[in-house]
Formats: sequence, structure tokens, C-alpha cells
Amino acid sequence: MISTNLDQAVALLNKNQIIGFPTETVYGLAGNAFSDVAIKKIYEVKKRPSFNPLIVHIKSFDVLDTVATEIPEKAHLLANAFWPGPLTLLLKKQPTISNLVTANLDTVAVRIPNHPVALELLHQLVFPLVAPSANPFTRISPTKAEHVAQYFENEIDMVLDGGTCMAGVESTIVGFESNKVIVYRLGALSLEAIEKVVGPVTIINKNKKNPKAPGMFLKHYSPKTEFILTRNLQSEIDWFQDKKVGLLLFNTIQPNFELKNQFVLSKKSDLNEAAANLYEALHELDKLNLDLIIAERFPEYGLGITINDRLERASKN
Ligand code: AMP
Ligand code: MG
Repeated sequence: MISTNLDQAVALLNKNQIIGFPTETVYGLAGNAFSDVAIKKIYEVKKRPSFNPLIVHIKSFDVLDTVATEIPEKAHLLANAFWPGPLTLLLKKQPTISNLVTANLDTVAVRIPNHPVALELLHQLVFPLVAPSANPFTRISPTKAEHVAQYFENEIDMVLDGGTCMAGVESTIVGFESNKVIVYRLGALSLEAIEKVVGPVTIINKNKKNPKAPGMFLKHYSPKTEFILTRNLQSEIDWFQDKKVGLLLFNTIQPNFELKNQFVLSKKSDLNEAAANLYEALHELDKLNLDLIIAERFPEYGLGITINDRLERASKN
């Protein structure tokens, strides 16, 4: 099931099968972007609602026009600065892109992943890949081949192993309206980095119940264990003294608390490292059979903003 055999991956994808595949953000469930058969399998296996569109992964900027058209100047600037990388652009779709990919929208989400195995695979194919994150709908995203195998052992034939994802959270999604840049999903590329290239952006990702940007569901990325996010760690720990509690922490171990039930995401206070470790820690905490996971709120800058967004979604039920 888990394998590094690229030829096998190519053969399966050419037969319109779907596979788990590595990117620098999280593992994806990948299929031929031009095959409705493959696309339908992805929705089915993921149990993803059909109104939640997929991201198209391309191998290079040269083939962008097979997928999208009318590329705004600011999209050029951003692609130039950050591709390959964890930035997804919402662009006007080409008519050849199936409505199944875009959930009937006239825009398509596109990026070039920055992962050597993903790029090598894409270069061996004559089509782009659609690939949503390889987790069942609402569950924690996978950052290792093993996570994907555990989720889908009976549904897919192969997970192409590319090691642990370096970024560890999903791509940042931006779109364009008039001359404005709009952030639809916070992700592995920080707002500060984007604003350096195109100036101030508008964020509409937060806390929308029935969002225009599909997929921005409030409940998302959830562990099975009850989960709370707090600014005041100590008082929550005291309040839940009688429960079996796990902790998700930024940089410091909690003294007088069982060591094996706490996960520090970055001892050196590096928010990129913390983001890379986030889902792995959630997966591990979720396996401990706890009554409750308490997460502390992260600093509100850089990828701290993305981490808080994911923790907020994990805490909704
Ligand atoms: P995932 O691949 O699971 O990280 O999810 C991809 C996300 O991309 C979806 O949940 C949507 O929020 C977003 N997306 C994809 N295509 C579009 C689009 N055309 N317009 C707006 N959002 C999109
Ligand atoms: Mg997802």
C-alpha cells in the first residue's frame, strides 16, 4: 500500500485510479484532473460534499493555460514569487475543466506543489492532478503516508510515500476581484509574505457559517476527542482536573503535568516549525484515548494566524 514506486503511481493514475500522494503541505488524494471517473472516485472515497471544489496541481507555469485563463497581473506576481509552493490561486477556469472539479463555479483553484516526488510524478503524466487533502471529510489532514493508509486502507491501492510533509498545513488560497487580492483560506504561506508582493489583502476566510468560499466550514480538521482552545491554559487545566486531559502547546512543557499527554509544537518558538508539527500532534493526541484535548492559542502573526484558524475549527462541534 505505502510505496515509493513512481511507475506504479503513474500506471494507476493513467487507468483513472486514485492514489495518496505527497505534497509539501499535506498528503492529497490524487486523480487525473481531466477524468470525471477519477474525480467522482475522489469525492466518493473522501465522502466530500460535491459542492466543495478541488485544487488542480500542475507541473509548471507553462501549462497553466490548459487549466485557467485571463490571469490577472497580481496572480502573475504571486505565482512568480511563490510557485512551486503552498499558494493556491483562484482563476477563471478553462471550459475543459469539468464542473465536478470546480463545483460549478467559474473559477478553478490551481497551484504547483513544492515537493520533489509530487513534481516528478506530475512530469511523468500528460494531465494535471486534482488532489484534495487525503482525509475523510472534516477529519484531521494527513502529513505522513501512514495517516493516509490508516484512513483509506480499503479504498485505495497505493500511497506514494514522500516522507513527512515539510509545511504540514494546507495551502493559502487567494482569489482576485477587480484589482483586489482576497484570501479565502489561511494556510502555509503567511499573509505577511503575500502582502510584501501585492500589498494589503482582504481576508474573508474567518468564521463563516455558510461560506461563499466552499470548504471553509467552521467544523473541520477535527480530532475525535473533545477539543478546546484557550488563552488561559492554567485555569482550564485546573477546571478539568478530574478528566484525562492532553495538551497542545506552543513552546513550553507544562510542569506538574503528565509528559506523555502533552505536545510542544516548537521548543524554539518557530511558528513554521509549529505549523509543520500541528496535525501530527493532533493525530497522536487523538490516539491517546483522552477525555479532552486543551490547546493554547498561538501568537497572532505569521503562521500563528493559520494555526489559530485550524485550532478554532477543530474546537467546533
Ligand atoms: P483541500 O484540497 O481539501 O485542502 O480543499 C480545497 C479547498 O479549495 C476547498 O475546500 C475550497 O475551499 C477551495 N477551493 C477550491 N476551488 C475553489 C474555487 N473555485 N473557489 C473557491 N474555493 C475553492
Ligand atoms: Mg481538506
